[in-house]
Amino acid sequence: VVVVSALTFRILHGSRDLAMALVDMTQHFSYLGETLRIIGQPHEIADAPEAAPIVPHEGEVEFLDVAFAYGEGRKVLRDFTLSIPAGQKVGIVGPSGAGKSTIVHLLQRLHDVQEGELRIGGHPVVGLQQDSLRAAISVVPQEVSLFHRSIGDNIRFARPNATDEEVVAAAKAAYCDDFIRALPDGYDTLVGERGAKLSGGQRQRVGIARAFLKDTPIIILDEATSGLDTQSEIEVQSALARLMRDRTVIAVAHRLSTIAGFDRVVVVIEGQIVEDGSPKDLRRKEGGIFARMWSLQAEGLSMDDIAASMIEPS
Ligand code: ATP
Repeated sequence: VVVVSALTFRILHGSRDLAMALVDMTQHFSYLGETLRIIGQPHEIADAPEAAPIVPHEGEVEFLDVAFAYGEGRKVLRDFTLSIPAGQKVGIVGPSGAGKSTIVHLLQRLHDVQEGELRIGGHPVVGLQQDSLRAAISVVPQEVSLFHRSIGDNIRFARPNATDEEVVAAAKAAYCDDFIRALPDGYDTLVGERGAKLSGGQRQRVGIARAFLKDTPIIILDEATSGLDTQSEIEVQSALARLMRDRTVIAVAHRLSTIAGFDRVVVVIEGQIVEDGSPKDLRRKEGGIFARMWSLQAEGLSMDDIAASMIEPS
């Protein structure tokens, strides 16, 4: 609307400067929009007046008898209890629509639970300020959004007051430093919509560098390493392994091989936990769902096919 208004203004009044100022304003708006998209969801839930500005430093996560439905719809989670000690790595698997994303969305408090309680580091999330909660959780998304700024600023986005040294340290930890230094202007190289194009693996490592910079006790991993060549995948996996060390990790797993080394796998069907154990034990469980998923994947079936087979009678 502003662009059209600017052009109209220019045609009608011949005032190029004002028209350009308005066009420039639209770029700021588009940058703002882009930034909001990268941040993810806007703060939908207001802080309670007594909400505390405590940032949980312990990565313990507890869902206690949680029930949740979107609006007036059916319950997506029912009697959902899951206690994750600090530092544990948990993969969540299950068919499409089982409630996996809902679990990690509730953890970020994009919605409030309707029954039961959700605690982080021993604090009920409803009693925490939104900003405190966000400072305790990093999300490494499936698709990393880059905005039209320098690559350094794209990493710094995770913690705007970080120094250059901290940005470089995060990039090094995520195996980004080498490829960034090889770009025409190093850390000052513009990336994003009209800037240098990064490969899928490089984008993912920028997402991991952001998480290093944020340095939170809890990591939510929306895994996305498929589609990468072997070398890129090794680099992404190495960066992730380093990031996960000493942190609580909750991964919505799209491939079983990546959670094979996790401490724990939780199989969710229709909003309830139906299997819970170490990947090693669950793989061996006779007649087990995870065991069946594992053997289907070994036969070369994709996760989508496996998920579909889980909702069909076997
Ligand atoms: P997938 O593997 O396909 O991503 P999922 O296990 O992550 O699935 P969820 O995204 O948590 O499943 O969805 C659980 C259920 O809630 C589904 O029936 C879905 O259609 C519904 N749902 C998810 N988000 C919303 C929403 N914003 N509004 C209404 N219903 C929703």
